[in-house]
Amino acid sequence: MPGDEIEPWLLTPGPLTTSVTVKQAMLRDWGSRDRRFIAINREVRDRLVDLAHGRGSHVAVPVQGSGTFAVEAMIGTLVPRDGKVLVLVNGAYGKRIARICAYARRAHPVYETSEDTPPDPAEVARRLAADPAITHVAAVHCETSSGILNPIAEIAAATAAAGRRLLIDAMSAFGALPLDARSLPFDAVAASANKCLEGVPGFGFVIAREQALAAAAGTAPALSLDLHDQWRGLEANGQWRFTPPTHVIAAFHQALIEHEAEGGVAGRGARYRENCRILVEGMAALGFEPLLPPALQAPIIVTFRMPADPRFRFEAFYDGLSRKGYVIYPGKLTVADSFRIGCIGRLGPPEMRGALAAIRGTLAEMGVESGAPRRREAA
Ligand SMILES: *Cc1c(COP(=O)(O)O)cnc(C)c1O
Repeated sequence: MPGDEIEPWLLTPGPLTTSVTVKQAMLRDWGSRDRRFIAINREVRDRLVDLAHGRGSHVAVPVQGSGTFAVEAMIGTLVPRDGKVLVLVNGAYGKRIARICAYARRAHPVYETSEDTPPDPAEVARRLAADPAITHVAAVHCETSSGILNPIAEIAAATAAAGRRLLIDAMSAFGALPLDARSLPFDAVAASANKCLEGVPGFGFVIAREQALAAAAGTAPALSLDLHDQWRGLEANGQWRFTPPTHVIAAFHQALIEHEAEGGVAGRGARYRENCRILVEGMAALGFEPLLPPALQAPIIVTFRMPADPRFRFEAFYDGLSRKGYVIYPGKLTVADSFRIGCIGRLGPPEMRGALAAIRGTLAEMGVESGAPRRREAA
């Protein structure tokens, strides 16, 4: 198939495009007991804690697998068997946290809002006041299924004011949107190597309050996802309990160096915001309409409404873009028929402009004159 020869730009929620230097960092086999490899792990863990401003209060624990493994390890290890988690849901990843709670048999009332509506921190406070048995709140920072930015600072304040503990899935935000443990109280945040930190996929990590993790011995329902045990192992001899994804860790170490060189969270966030601005403006010029108003849009991934033109077929659009070297993502929303274009990964303004040119070309091939969606009925 034409297009298979070129390495595509991934404008998706993951896996994401990574730099050549990150890929090159994988061209070496490491022994898990190698002193230099152990030092790389130490440095990676310290850098992660620093990114959350958690020195002295928090520790970073990596876990093999995709991002979901880290979320599952966080919930299973830090919510006690008799705990109760209020899960805030406004998309697929919030729903996934509820499923994780069900598998782990943790009580989990759900506060759900629609996919284009953030949870109301005042309602979180009301639900916590009404149910003293709730021990934890679980929230998603950027809900990647729509790209919505949830009010994590206000949720953290409401949770802390009620004396409860916050667990955050910041998978698609960590490293690009600030999360400061000194001013935003949380017991743990989960993210992964291959989102905004631009490593390759293969492990996730949890940055947890040390006291909470220390108190969580014997809580996890699964050995391989026991964060407490993984942490004790790493602290004891610097080694992962089970085969570490050595190449992925080496690549992630390089990715963290590149993140710092770009200006850390502020620098990375600025590039993504610029990517997002170019994308939204360029799409608007073609008639496309984003699902979310600017105030709710995180600079991570943008959901666009499906065009009304009957000549527009998503499959053909997707294939046309991928032949030109750009991979986008279908929508998975119930509120609107839609598709998504990501702003994260090793992409900058030239790639975003390239994607827009490919979109313009593909629309012309399809005979679609405008990306304008069907007019919405008044509410
Ligand atoms: C990507 C993502 C995850 C993890 O997904 P995996 O496919 O397991 O890596 C979890 N939560 C959010 C919000 C995400 O964007």
